[in-house]
Amino acid sequence: MSEFDLIRQLQKIISFEPRPGAHASVVGIGDDAAVLELPPGRQLIVTTDTLVQGVHFSPRTTPGDLGHKSLAVSLSDLASMGAEPAWFFLALTLPGIDSAWTDAFAKGMADLAENTGIELAGGDTTSGPLSITVTALGLVETGQALRRSGAREGDIIVVSGSLGGAAFALKMITAGEVPAAACAEKLHRPDPRLGLGCRLHGLATSCIDLSDGLLADLGHVLHASGKGAEIHLERLPSPECMAKLNETERLELQTGGGDDYELCFTIPRNREPELAVIQRETGIRLTAIGEITASRKLLCIARDGEVCHASRKGYEHLAGDGG
Ligand code: ADP
Ligand code: MG
Repeated sequence: MSEFDLIRQLQKIISFEPRPGAHASVVGIGDDAAVLELPPGRQLIVTTDTLVQGVHFSPRTTPGDLGHKSLAVSLSDLASMGAEPAWFFLALTLPGIDSAWTDAFAKGMADLAENTGIELAGGDTTSGPLSITVTALGLVETGQALRRSGAREGDIIVVSGSLGGAAFALKMITAGEVPAAACAEKLHRPDPRLGLGCRLHGLATSCIDLSDGLLADLGHVLHASGKGAEIHLERLPSPECMAKLNETERLELQTGGGDDYELCFTIPRNREPELAVIQRETGIRLTAIGEITASRKLLCIARDGEVCHASRKGYEHLAGDGG
């Protein structure tokens, strides 16, 4: 099989009938570059992410999971900007040509591409240590992109889904244990919150997707917005599969663990009743976990009312006992 055949194989598997109203490329795979038509009144949202074997995923990750996840992480960026997915580009660096591997990889990617209506419009194929770069392009109405910078004092902080499941699965796998299926799914097959992101226009004052961990990512929002926050630790939503963990272990994963690809957004306090409506419409759990303050500090409130401050790894008790 040649590189040309490999591209044909990818193209064939990762293609589907465009939905009505989809923004099909004018020229897709097969020329020197793609030609894309931007609908009037829309802006382009562009994001790119690279996954490198041994850095972002283990050599034991299955090709199907890898195909799904490498597209999912870019779609999650589009979701956090409130964008509708339109096209993506796939730059693959492969150690060799392996038709069975490519087939499984492409199938993992194809399901997500079709479900979210994003078209593979081009890419690049080279040889070398396994790495995957996805560039995803989405559309928003001009001026409507959700940003990190708009959080205001008194806004409520909301997270989608549950937190910590992906980090828990990774921890177990690293320790040689087998995680519960639901946690493994969070790690390997994240579900980008595209419908939710689009639903937040005109409501969210800021938004980010949780790739590095709640406190780290919320920290980016606070920095961009010039604000602080208070988070109530007992409100953090847990997945079922973490039910058996003790509280300390669980909170560490929920505040510091990455790879959840949930959305964290802020809304004005008087709009809180709308959360129940959106939760019903999208079927995604939404949890208010705290509020924006003017202090520029990120504080965590424990169950007993004790105040902790956020650190890079998670949270630390303010009244130091050295631990
Ligand atoms: P060039 O040498 O002109 O850059 P390539 O042979 O790299 O052209 O690519 C030929 C066509 O195949 C282009 O349309 C390119 O976008 C597409 N392509 C190459 N690799 C991939 C890939 N991994 N996934 C999708 N499309 C690809
Ligand atoms: Mg060319």
